[in-house]
Order: sequence, then structure tokens, then C-alpha cells
Amino acid sequence: MNIREFSQDLQKIYDQMWDAFSQYQAASGLNCLVGCGKCCNNPEVEASVLEMFPLALRILDENKLEEWLDKLEEPAQDHCLMYEPHTPDGSKGQCGVYKERPSLCRMFGVAGFYNKHQEVTLSVCKLIREKYPDLTKIRESEVSDKTPMLITWSYRLAQIDPGLIQDRMPINQALKKALERIALYAQYQEHS
Ligand code: SF4
Ligand code: SF4
Repeated sequence: MNIREFSQDLQKIYDQMWDAFSQYQAASGLNCLVGCGKCCNNPEVEASVLEMFPLALRILDENKLEEWLDKLEEPAQDHCLMYEPHTPDGSKGQCGVYKERPSLCRMFGVAGFYNKHQEVTLSVCKLIREKYPDLTKIRESEVSDKTPMLITWSYRLAQIDPGLIQDRMPINQALKKALERIALYAQYQEHS
């Protein structure tokens, strides 16, 4: 695998993915709460190792590989180490790696999925649902194939490499493994 080409291809999909989901939020009015970062404060956020390659490469290029590997050896928090909280309880804050954040982070707020009856259904973050209860019901009733779908974007990722949607693990662990692979890649580059 050419890691740089792979990461560029992945970053293109990330950008398109974000366009699709953010445009849907804006058009539907089901926007994230201003300054909210509650989902990033959750230790259950997962990513695959390959999804973290664009970020791992940036860390390599900024000569911060050792610094990040040390931080990830015994992470100070169970939730994502890239989260920058603005309040003591972590409910407000921002992503420190917004451009390279993995796929799940781009789809947290509002996304379409197929329910067990194979009907298109809307998944809406609890906080958005609580803030816009009536609008949420309206958008749920209007849901269609134009709604950005989790499955569509998972397929697009899998087309680059099936590993992108497999073997998901807690995000800090995924970044650590990605950095370890990038460190090997850097050593290989030095000696080739
Ligand atoms: S990568 Fe960014 S968006 Fe994703 S959980 Fe971490 S801080 Fe949140
Ligand atoms: S998806 Fe929900 S918890 Fe996450 S930032 Fe948006 S409003 Fe907040």
C-alpha cells in the first residue's frame, strides 16, 4: 500500500462525506447545538486503524510521532485524546483534528439508516432531538433516499480498502496502532 496515496484518497472521501452530512443538517434545520462536543466526550467512539492514517501522517510530518505515542501509551482519558473541552464536564468543546477526523465523527448528528424492515429511517442525536422535537418528527416523516445514508458511505470507504470499515476499536487505540504503522513506514522510507 502506498500510504500517502491511500490517505489522499481517503481524505477526498472524508471531505465529500462531510459536505453531504453538513449540507443535510443545514437544509433540514437539525443542526448540532452550538459549541457542543458531548459525543466526543464518550469513550465509545470507535474507528478502524486505517481511518486514522491521514491524521497519523500529519503527526509524522509535524515530527510529533514520539510525543503522540507517549501520550497514547497511557491515555489520560478514556474518550478521544484529540478532544479539546471548553467546560469542566466536557459537554462543550471542539475537535482538535477536525480535518482528519474519522468517518463516525462526520455522521454523529443526523444520518439515514435501514431499519430491520429495510425502510429508510433517520438516526438523530438525542440532544438535537430534544432541542427540535417537532422538526425531528417532520424530518423523520420526510426521510428518503436523498438522506445521507450510513451504509452508502461505508460502501464508499470499503471500496478504497475493506479494512476501513472492519476491526473498529476505541479511537485512541486505533490512532496508536496507526502511528505504530506510520513509524514503520517512516523507517522504511529512511532506509530505501
Ligand atoms: S476525532 Fe474529533 S470529532 Fe472524533 S471523537 Fe475525537 S475529538 Fe471528537
Ligand atoms: S451530534 Fe449531538 S452530541 Fe454531538 S456535537 Fe452534535 S449535538 Fe452535540
